[in-house]
Amino acid sequence: MPLRLPTRLRRDHRSGSRRRHAAAASLALAAALAGCADPAKPPNLLLITVDTLRPDRLECYGGKPGVGAAMCALAEHGTRFQWAIAAAPYTGPSVASILTSSYPAEHGVTQSAMSYLRDANVTVAEVLRAAGYLTAAFVSNPVLDKSRSLDQGFAVYDQRMRQRERNRPRYVERIAQDTTDAALAWAQVAVSEPWFLWVHFQDPHGPYDPPVAASVADRPNEERLPVRPDHSGHGGIPAYQALPRLFTARAYERRYLDEIRYLDPHVRRLVEGLDALGEPPAVLLTSDHGEAFGEDEVWFAHGHSLGLDQIRVPLLWRPPQPRAPAVVARPVSLLDVAPTLLRVAGLELPPGFQGRPLPVPETGDAESSERLIFSEHAHRLAVIAGDVYYARDRRRIGEDERDTVSGGRIRAFPRRSARLSAEAGFPGYIPGDAKGLEAALADYLEATRFRRGAHRSELPEGTQETLSALGYLE
Ligand SMILES: [Zn+2]
Repeated sequence: MPLRLPTRLRRDHRSGSRRRHAAAASLALAAALAGCADPAKPPNLLLITVDTLRPDRLECYGGKPGVGAAMCALAEHGTRFQWAIAAAPYTGPSVASILTSSYPAEHGVTQSAMSYLRDANVTVAEVLRAAGYLTAAFVSNPVLDKSRSLDQGFAVYDQRMRQRERNRPRYVERIAQDTTDAALAWAQVAVSEPWFLWVHFQDPHGPYDPPVAASVADRPNEERLPVRPDHSGHGGIPAYQALPRLFTARAYERRYLDEIRYLDPHVRRLVEGLDALGEPPAVLLTSDHGEAFGEDEVWFAHGHSLGLDQIRVPLLWRPPQPRAPAVVARPVSLLDVAPTLLRVAGLELPPGFQGRPLPVPETGDAESSERLIFSEHAHRLAVIAGDVYYARDRRRIGEDERDTVSGGRIRAFPRRSARLSAEAGFPGYIPGDAKGLEAALADYLEATRFRRGAHRSELPEGTQETLSALGYLE
């Protein structure tokens, strides 16, 4: 059974001969589904991605009181997703998966800055622009440079960055103040609705040195971490993260929270600014990946594994019209972001989209237990079925293999599984195979082996049946 078949069947069933409908009729249908005041008017759409944002540091995911309060407030009249899973633990491939609703094996963007999104891929911005949306993007991470072709479908792609990263001055980025100013300046002159705006904030990404930070110092009795000569974070502070006179986990944690505290009011300013200009947008906020704070003995780094500290991200949905809040515990994928935006806009999902609309009232889609969610890394694979997570290395990893991305060594990780509970905290890992999910990973590898860079892919026949027989599907 194809990976995306259930979604397609549901859509056809619901909309009948929608293919024959004019775009305007389709948009009106979506507006009605989304509960807009004017059913003829499709909603404005705001996608916010925050780089390197761990959900469990936010108040609404069990973090310290007040941290991320403005971001959390987005779901006060919408939906918070307890387990949202990124398709990769790096910015480039994860963002490409958000925009194209496809896995890295399909869209071909990897952690290599040389990789780029091929024209054959269809982005959510391209679909919205073709349907009459005004599209714009404001990015703040240098790896999202236009040269990687992630700007496909955006009439405006603003990547003006001028802040040099503390320890790697050739990296130029943009802080939330400037990103927000730029996006609001665009919105003030962009008079045509509907619009789709994507804003990528860089701030929680290391080094953790926000413009505004509480004073913090190491305490004499605390364990000091060594500064690593590379960027891996294995056993110590990555070179690019090193802050003057700070060597303890507590100090870096404080600084990371300060980054979130600095960013949070700018998210509020962005949303309130847009709300004041016209029809308040539907808002979807998420992150591209997490960050390790000692998990697997890795500090202040991402991209080395598919641990839950790396691939679990926040996902907060503010619908076009306020409603009673909801929390969804069933895991969802960041591949579901683009289908959600298109469904709310009343548009067909392109054939290559592998995600499905999120289970919120505005899409009319229900939670599904019969799906597989994957996450990819150059050396690892992870899969989630129902509430079971399973990850393993793609192959046996030798002792002295060098990681060209971080400059450190590639480490082997044990096969392990976990049960994702409805509670906010991270579960413990269970060593060993999750048998049905091992079959799913093998099928995924086989299905994608000859398709890297291809436009679409499907799991081979039999995968769902295999899982069902082993009890992973309800
Ligand atoms: Zn990132």
